Amino acid sequence: MSGDSYDVIVVGSGLGGVSSAAILAKAGFRVLVLEQADGFGGLAHSFERDGRTFDSAIRIMAEGEMVIGLLDFLGVGDECELTPIDHLYQAEFPGMSLFAPAGIDGFTEAHIREFPAEADGIRTLFGLRRQMFLELARMPMRVTDPRLMDQLPELAPTLMRYRTATLQQVLDEHLRDPRLKAACSALWPYMGAPPSQLSFFAYSQFLGVLVDGPYYCMGSFQKLVDAFLAAVRRNGGDALTKAAVERIVVTDGKVTGVRTEDGREFQASVVISNADARQTFDTLIGAEHLPERFVKRVNRMVPSMSACCVYATTTQDVTEYLHAHETFKYNHWDHEDTWRDVLGGARPAGMSLSVMTMMDESLAKPGEHMLIATAVAPYRRGDGKNWWEERDRYADALLGEFETLVPGLRDNLTSLQAGTPLTIERFTRNYQGATYGWALTPNQIGGKRLAHEAPVDGLFLCGHWTEEGPASFRVVLSGMNAAREVLARFGSSLEVPTFKPDDVPALAL
Ligand SMILES: Cc1cc2nc3c(=O)[nH]c(=O)nc-3n(C[C@H](O)[C@H](O)[C@H](O)COP(=O)(O)OP(=O)(O)OC[C@H]3O[C@@H](n4cnc5c(N)ncnc54)[C@H](O)[C@@H]3O)c2cc1C
Repeated sequence: MSGDSYDVIVVGSGLGGVSSAAILAKAGFRVLVLEQADGFGGLAHSFERDGRTFDSAIRIMAEGEMVIGLLDFLGVGDECELTPIDHLYQAEFPGMSLFAPAGIDGFTEAHIREFPAEADGIRTLFGLRRQMFLELARMPMRVTDPRLMDQLPELAPTLMRYRTATLQQVLDEHLRDPRLKAACSALWPYMGAPPSQLSFFAYSQFLGVLVDGPYYCMGSFQKLVDAFLAAVRRNGGDALTKAAVERIVVTDGKVTGVRTEDGREFQASVVISNADARQTFDTLIGAEHLPERFVKRVNRMVPSMSACCVYATTTQDVTEYLHAHETFKYNHWDHEDTWRDVLGGARPAGMSLSVMTMMDESLAKPGEHMLIATAVAPYRRGDGKNWWEERDRYADALLGEFETLVPGLRDNLTSLQAGTPLTIERFTRNYQGATYGWALTPNQIGGKRLAHEAPVDGLFLCGHWTEEGPASFRVVLSGMNAAREVLARFGSSLEVPTFKPDDVPALAL
């Protein structure tokens, strides 16, 4: 075998890419990971500035136990430490704050304390989440057997009833007070779409795992990426940065390798693309190698919203004012008004402030707190202004929004950097800086996203554009599922356990 020949090439080193690469390397396949950026990790990448470590995007992870199980299976469990956090968030609305503890009972009670008159509706709403979750956990990944389809209304009544609903429709069905509806959907900025557009199914799945308690990766999520890469290398694989793939080479309808932008060529009969789906099909493969219907389908799909991030450190003891690792702040009770601000682009909205040093004080210098403020933001601002020119003004306004909670927040900063949708696009090549792959609307979840096996022989996909959906643990799940499909193609006997079968449903309807 020549030095440039591999069994599998993985394009992109996001968590989806490195988790699939690590499993395939463990199974004995020769694997190469190619990353276009200067560092590995995509949205899990962290950057160092003056002795401080900043997570570029991911701040918390659900389903830490599943990921710990996978790392142990790969023999790299001691390479990174995932630590549970005992609460979810604090939500600040005009005139009301709600602290959301971890654990479904405490979470439900926190809402009932504020809105006791609607205790039954609150219990039903969060109970639906659990019911859908359990129904999903009992089902196979993909429902293809027509007999099973016929039985679905009986097997999974809650799921069938709500699978095409938006979060707003379900809130309206079970709750009366508009402020309670807003409080119960306070987490929507995590999913980049307001309740009127957000799939209830996606929201339930997300809340369903997050409510059990999120995890932080000590030292930053880069450690998790590096642990997967250690598993790749220990099993004879390679990983290169500054290796942007320009073309996935297709000969006679089959994948035969890749060519990089600087002219290097690598051969493999299987390529897994963890890169942005539009780029994968439009540029890396090319429409000429794809069925017309598939190209039309991908072009019709709508990407998720982008975001702006401000990375800062301060000598102020912000924990005097902020009691959760993440605080959402709303200027309106109506999330549709907040969404209008998001689309306008001028006023920060759909925003949260994370105190990273509440989870790991080693990220900043002694005596400092590290803050990451995030706002949901459009790639093209509604006011027509350019993000490059507006970046610093917007970053200042975003921090300024939190001064109603932390007086003098901007006066004690020891470092400050800002990123916009253009930054996300540049560093990760996600289409228009999309934060979560396709938007999480009811018509773009589960099996309505992209399958792992693409319609070109030898091409597979993983990451947040595929059917498991977005967020750190779900893209790891997508990496596991993509690897399983490649193992089956090669006839490998390696069994990849599910690690937490009852809790990680991933049904594609
Ligand atoms: C601001 C922000 C905050 C977030 N917060 C959280 C959070 O707290 N918790 C959470 O779970 N999720 C969070 N998410 C979502 C989560 O980060 C993503 O869903 C997930 O990390 C995506 O992983 P991925 O494997 O799909 O790909 P990505 O991380 O997008 O990686 C794709 C990789 O492919 C590379 N690539 C692209 N094109 C090429 C090419 N041609 N050649 C070679 N390489 C290429 C890119 O450089 C990149 O490294 C957040 C996202 C954002 C933007």
